[in-house]
Amino acid sequence: MGSIIKQLAVLGSTGSIGQQTLEVVRAFPHRFRIIGLAASKNLDLLAKQVNEFKPRFVYSQDREALSHLNIECDFLPLEEMASYPQVDTVVIAVSGRSGLLPTVAAVKAGKNVALANKESLVMAGEIIINEAKLNKAQILPVDSEHSAIWQCLKGENQKAAQLILTASGGPFRHFSPAQLSEVTVEQALEHPSWQMGRKVTIDSATLMNKGLEVIEAHWLFDMPSDNIRVLIHAQSIIHSLVEFIDGSVKAQLSYPDMRLPIQYALSYPERLPNPELPRLNWDSLSRLTFEQPDFSRFPCLNLAIEAGRKGGTYPAVLCAADEVAVELFLSQRIKFTDIAYLVKQTLEQHQPVAHPTLEEILAADAWAREKVTQLTTEGNPC
Ligand code: MG
Repeated sequence: MGSIIKQLAVLGSTGSIGQQTLEVVRAFPHRFRIIGLAASKNLDLLAKQVNEFKPRFVYSQDREALSHLNIECDFLPLEEMASYPQVDTVVIAVSGRSGLLPTVAAVKAGKNVALANKESLVMAGEIIINEAKLNKAQILPVDSEHSAIWQCLKGENQKAAQLILTASGGPFRHFSPAQLSEVTVEQALEHPSWQMGRKVTIDSATLMNKGLEVIEAHWLFDMPSDNIRVLIHAQSIIHSLVEFIDGSVKAQLSYPDMRLPIQYALSYPERLPNPELPRLNWDSLSRLTFEQPDFSRFPCLNLAIEAGRKGGTYPAVLCAADEVAVELFLSQRIKFTDIAYLVKQTLEQHQPVAHPTLEEILAADAWAREKVTQLTTEGNPC
């Protein structure tokens, strides 16, 4: 299978994961071919990518602006691109809710889905996993923790006893509650070990990201959330661990660089030698540390785990409330600690639906967005 070229559609090509996906493609021009690129913003970069990778199809929300660029390929809507017959693997690298419908379209079409968007599984895990089984679609995790677990589980034919998700702890892991309430946008966007998009960087600082990852792991690996734990590991060298029923623990280690989990998802089940990927330096690596997460200073972690446990439309409400609250924080309209406050209030006021349809999930999402806006304009937080 060494010479087969995989045809890729990259949704969210101008974001952090999208750009790193194209770096991997650039390193292996004889293995991967881009046939679709989609981006919502940053059309100048999209135009550059189109000129370099020459896809057949392009998508942007702003079709009008796209038509003014000098691009010679056909426009194709997101969901059609995700299910286009010649596409082997769809990379879902868009952020937030916008990943949901393309992910559903890709699994329904039986694609390999390299999934970097965690919100889609968090919001609609039950639907996506069922559709993937039904249509023999393979979900290939791109999130570094889930890629690590996936790699640890390879070759095992029994269910694991426990999944241990590592977290860097973000830039504020030693901040007091008073310090946390004064955190600025600039501070929150400085992540100590990973280069990521703005939304996920803020989610890492609140630990919401890790809570979303617990829900994601629950769906990806069919593991009850009581058997998934979170461990703070500031160096971000161990990307996650799996404990088996005999007490043996496997870990996956590497220098923190998203190109590795992206590449593994694209090349799976093979590994490819990429000289551009940094290697662990055992001469300078002297210590790996572990500590327990502090649920009281980082309430988003528990809010997410609880929403996942309750299921139904709660996780969708969690995602939507967080997405709006993070936007409000980034535009300096609320404090860092108000993110958790708004998400908590919204979850508490939600009337849940069990085993929701996609329409019910989208309705819960819309309700939550409206609720956060309402809570904020009431001048409730701060
Ligand atoms: Mg992650």
